[in-house]
Amino acid sequence: MSIPDIKSVLKIALGPSSSHTLGALKIGQKVRKFLNSLEDVEFNRIKVKLLGSFALTGKGHLTDKAIIAGLNGYEVDKSSNSILNEYTKVNKRNKIDTGIQKISFSKDDIILDKDDSSYSHPNTVLFTIYSNQKKYNKKFISIGGGEIEEINKNGNISQKKQTKSKGLTRIISECNKNNINIIDYILSFEKNIYGYEKNELYRYLGDIWDLMEKNIEDGIRKEGVLPGNLQLNRRAKEMYDSFIDNLRSWKLLSRQITLSSIYAIAVAEENASGAKIVTAPTCGSAGVIPATLKVMMEKYHYPKKKILNALLVAGLLGAIAKGNASISGAEVGCQGEIGVASSMAAGAICFLMGGTLEQIDFAAEIALEHHLGLTCDPAGGLVQIPCIERNAVGAITALNSANLSLLRKTPNKIKFDSVLDSMMEIGGDMSKKYKETSLGGLASRFTC
Ligand code: SF4
Repeated sequence: MSIPDIKSVLKIALGPSSSHTLGALKIGQKVRKFLNSLEDVEFNRIKVKLLGSFALTGKGHLTDKAIIAGLNGYEVDKSSNSILNEYTKVNKRNKIDTGIQKISFSKDDIILDKDDSSYSHPNTVLFTIYSNQKKYNKKFISIGGGEIEEINKNGNISQKKQTKSKGLTRIISECNKNNINIIDYILSFEKNIYGYEKNELYRYLGDIWDLMEKNIEDGIRKEGVLPGNLQLNRRAKEMYDSFIDNLRSWKLLSRQITLSSIYAIAVAEENASGAKIVTAPTCGSAGVIPATLKVMMEKYHYPKKKILNALLVAGLLGAIAKGNASISGAEVGCQGEIGVASSMAAGAICFLMGGTLEQIDFAAEIALEHHLGLTCDPAGGLVQIPCIERNAVGAITALNSANLSLLRKTPNKIKFDSVLDSMMEIGGDMSKKYKETSLGGLASRFTC
């Protein structure tokens, strides 16, 4: 299997969750395509059943509404509406508009089945589509980072875990053997495997970075209560203002640690509010990379091109994690989201500071190693507690991991690839209570 495309890791999405919101939206869009491919068939009803984590935390993540919005033709880049508004439109008219036909809809057509445990993947959705002549069944899973797969009639799912892509160790050895720097290596596989020209890729990453900066700026400006039953107040603005007021007398730790934490919280709050966001590698962990790269840029005045190269390095690490392990909280817990985000950021910071490839591996390894076992137990099924603060902690770990790696001259015993394998093993053994179901841990102690 090839290394996944960097664009599939760093991409524009809508918060609050890449698997539960963006993935659900894509599933709706895919079913819409299927309906429209059968031009002569008149459909009269679509029943949707959400299972597993989709059923348990789908309400807080807008999973049900995103599926209906996708069926109705909603697209992140083209629609000015929000998912919620699109759903409200469908619900008011009691019709899903596929662009070719209008199909009757009632909110009772969506069932969140919390008791059915017959699923093989925690983010599963079943469709029963009725026409005058026959009934069609469709089954999809959302595997993390906004990626989805259809399960066929034989129950076959992704081949992704059966063949691994190249790991970081092999990439580093190829770079060293052929005397290629890591950026040229990434640009060449993006061109050779995915056909992306260098300029196109930099343009894409330029948009990604612009949105990351916008999310920080918006997040430190906005006030108010975040959506959902937790009634959680935004904190980034208050913290940022207080930091600026006390700048001269600031005694608490370093400026970069403090600012990166505030920036990470700002982006995570934007995500929780359903804003347009960059998956890095997921919506829930979207704050770590922008926050750390922003403080590095502010401190060392790097030109934008250098930050885009750092995003390439972060994207490569995320792509390896996605191809060889998982970036889904529902599959391996938060180690796959904040843990992977922190390792991506650590590698990118190390790159910015002129670290060797071995030091980049070490930085990513440290950051992920110390997130191993991290559970996903969001209170009320919302990407807020612990997710928002967890972005700040992931950012600090990334900065510290890069620092530690830059101090080392001797080879590191454990490699990033091995920690990814460990993450998968631990994720496999982790109780489903701690994998985005909100059935245990923090989630069971904070009820709305
Ligand atoms: S706890 Fe972590 S994995 Fe779970 S929703 Fe929050 S950020 Fe995502």
